[in-house]
Amino acid sequence: MIKKYYLLSPGPTPVPETVLAKGALPIIHHRTKEFSDLFMEMTEGMKYVFQTKNDVYTLTSSGTGAMETAVTNLLSKGDKAIVVNGGKFGERWAQICNVYGVEVVEIKIEWGEVLSPSKLEEVLKDNPETKAVFTQLSETSTGVVYDVKGFAEVVSKTDAVLVVDGISGLGATPCPMDEWGVNVLLTGSQKSLMIPPGLAFISFDDKAWKLVETSNLPKYYFDMKKAKKSIGKRTTPYTPAVSLVYQQLEALKIIKEQTIDGIIEHHRILGDATRAAVKAIGLELFAKAPGNILTSVKTPEGIDGKELVNIMQKKYSAYISGAQDPMKGKFFRIAHLGYMGGFDVIIAISALEMVLADLGFNVELGKGVAAAENVLRREWK
Ligand SMILES: *Cc1c(COP(=O)(O)O)cnc(C)c1O
Repeated sequence: MIKKYYLLSPGPTPVPETVLAKGALPIIHHRTKEFSDLFMEMTEGMKYVFQTKNDVYTLTSSGTGAMETAVTNLLSKGDKAIVVNGGKFGERWAQICNVYGVEVVEIKIEWGEVLSPSKLEEVLKDNPETKAVFTQLSETSTGVVYDVKGFAEVVSKTDAVLVVDGISGLGATPCPMDEWGVNVLLTGSQKSLMIPPGLAFISFDDKAWKLVETSNLPKYYFDMKKAKKSIGKRTTPYTPAVSLVYQQLEALKIIKEQTIDGIIEHHRILGDATRAAVKAIGLELFAKAPGNILTSVKTPEGIDGKELVNIMQKKYSAYISGAQDPMKGKFFRIAHLGYMGGFDVIIAISALEMVLADLGFNVELGKGVAAAENVLRREWK
């Protein structure tokens, strides 16, 4: 069989053909009016995605660069921060804080579980000197979507700022920055934003900007005071990834055409179809609060989860994702994120059924596919 590649992971995600084509355009110089016009048009588009009036800064890095930017630009040596840690990416917040000498109060959540805003409120009460609360919108390692609206409500009553890692979640599940009062929101380009890896975006509200002005943690490349000065001159402090800017502008056309609510609804439908299929096959969901981004599925008894993912990738060229350490093999993750359509769900579920049959699991071929088809037929607009 020809190895046709099916990218079904929660990042990187497939890139639309029209967006890919933009990457082949000649590079223009970035210190020109021509580029500034494109850059500012993209910035405006990102403000729409973030649902904010604040500036959105473009970083040339993967998403983690924006996470590091948030820590180094908001905090000072010895500051205290609360980290919501329910998976790999929550853990990353704690690691970045530790590197920079920030004192971390970790709220450890079991993988797949959620955190109630009232529990966060308790921890804030116990730690009144907290400067920032770091969380994910979508904890991509488990598939859980957190109650960021609820978090924002409790954090807003304190002097702390709420910093939300929206990488994977923003643009697939609701997170209107201004309406919910999220103080800092950030994302990366290779997930819901439908372009290749390499750009990150971050926005600060006024409460957060006050911290930026006094922060003394070391920073050079990711200094947001420089970024603010530059955006006033319609540019970036250093050479931007020109091709990725072309591509993001093109992908924003699709997002604007669908509207932000429309694109979130699209992801909701794909998520519902995937979950219906998984249940019809007789499997269990892993996440307690599964969302629009990905569906994490418990590996059934008697099946080797690592082998399942391995066969899926090697034999069927369907690149779903396994679970990361320390949960390797215990569940697997099927994404329905970014430039994926209804038939991508069918591919994922069909491949899953075939792998389960290969591994000797008692599965009726087509049962999950039919369940997904029924959701898609009903909801397809
Ligand atoms: C992918 C992801 C990251 C890491 O982003 P990189 O682009 O790999 O640096 C961080 N947080 C979340 C929630 C993610 O999904």
